[in-house]
Amino acid sequence: MLAALLAQTRLSPEALNAFFVRPPLMASAESSLPPIDWDALTFSFTETDRMFVAHGTWEDGWSEGEMMDFQPLTLTPAACVLNYGQGLFEGMKARMTPDGRITLFRPEMNARRAADGSARLVMPEVPEEMFVDVVRRVATENRRWVPPNGRGELYIRPIIFGSSARLGVAPADEYMFVVFAVPVGPYFKGGMTPISLRVSQEHHRAAPGGSGGVKAIGNYAPGMMPSKKAKSEGYSEIIYLDAVDHQYVEEVGAANFFCVRDNVLYTPELTGTILPGITRLSIIELARSMGLEVMEERVDIDFALECDEAFCAGTAAVISPIGSIEHGEKVVNYGDVGKITLDLYSRLTGIMDGSSEDPFGWTLEI
Ligand SMILES: *Cc1c(COP(=O)(O)O)cnc(C)c1O
Repeated sequence: MLAALLAQTRLSPEALNAFFVRPPLMASAESSLPPIDWDALTFSFTETDRMFVAHGTWEDGWSEGEMMDFQPLTLTPAACVLNYGQGLFEGMKARMTPDGRITLFRPEMNARRAADGSARLVMPEVPEEMFVDVVRRVATENRRWVPPNGRGELYIRPIIFGSSARLGVAPADEYMFVVFAVPVGPYFKGGMTPISLRVSQEHHRAAPGGSGGVKAIGNYAPGMMPSKKAKSEGYSEIIYLDAVDHQYVEEVGAANFFCVRDNVLYTPELTGTILPGITRLSIIELARSMGLEVMEERVDIDFALECDEAFCAGTAAVISPIGSIEHGEKVVNYGDVGKITLDLYSRLTGIMDGSSEDPFGWTLEI
C-alpha cells in the first residue's frame, strides 16, 4: 500500500516518513495540546511525550540510542532483569527557574553513581558524558511537562538493566539504558509537615557486603511490606537500623537520615549498606560552608532519640522534617520544624530552583 502511494505521489521515502512520523514538538504543536493541570500533580506516574532507549553489549559498548515517543518496551520473558533483578535506577529532577530557564541538579553525580552501581551488578557502564547528554535531551524534548517555578518538577528516571535471555544465574549478554520523565507536584503542599516514623524491629534494608550502597532494583521490593504495614498503622515511613547490631540508624525508607544536637549535624557514615544520596552529600557540603560542624559516623538510635532536630533527605522531598520516632516502648517528639532543618531546606531548595545564587556550580542549564 505504501509502495502504491509512493508511486502515485512521487514523494521520496524521506518525505513520506516526515509525513507519517510525528515531528519533535514545536512551539506551534505545543500550543495546540491540552493544558496541563499543574495543581493536580502528585508524586505519581503520568505519561509524557518522549523517552530514550539505547542498547549495550560487552563487546560493542552502548549504541548511540534514540529518542522516541513514549511507548512500551518489548522484552523476552527470560530477560535477566525480570528473572534475576539485574538492573538499577536513578532519580533526578529538572526544574524551571523563576526566569524560565530549565536546570538539572548535579546530574554528573547520578551518572557516577549509576556507573558504580553498574560495576557492582556486572553491567556495562554508561559513560558520564552520554548519561548527562541523554538526561538533557529527555528533559528538552519533554520541556512542556516541566512545571512552572514553585509548582513542581520534572522527575527524570534513568534505568539500566540486563535485557537478554538468561536461564542460569549469570550476567546478561545485552543491556538497555532507558530514560523517561514524569512531572511531579511539590512534595509539601502548603508548608512543611513533620513526619512520624517507627523504627523497624524485624526488618533490615541491607547487610554488609550486599548491595545496599547501590540503587539496585532488587533492594526495594523487600522494603514494601514493612513500609506498607507502618503506613497502614499511621506512620509515614520506617527507620531501618543496621543488620549487625540492630543499634545504628541506616536510612528512612529510601531517604538518608540526619539529626542535629547542640548545633552539630550528624549523619550515618557510608559503609556500603547506605545509599550515597546526592541530597545527603549536598547537605553536608552546604552545612560545612555555613560553618556548621558535620559528623559522618555511626549514629546510635538512642543518641538520635535525644537530638534537638531530625530530618531525612532525598531527591523526592529534598528535606523532610521528622516530627516523631517510635522505637519499641519509646516515643520521641521533636516538636515543630527545627531551625537548622528549615535553614538547610530553604538554602538548598533556593539553589535547586534558581531563586537564589548557586555558589557551588551545582545546577546545569539544559
Ligand atoms: C535514592 C535513594 C536515596 C536518596 O538519594 P538522592 O540522590 O538524594 O535522591 C536514599 N536512600 C535510598 C535507599 C535511595 O534509593
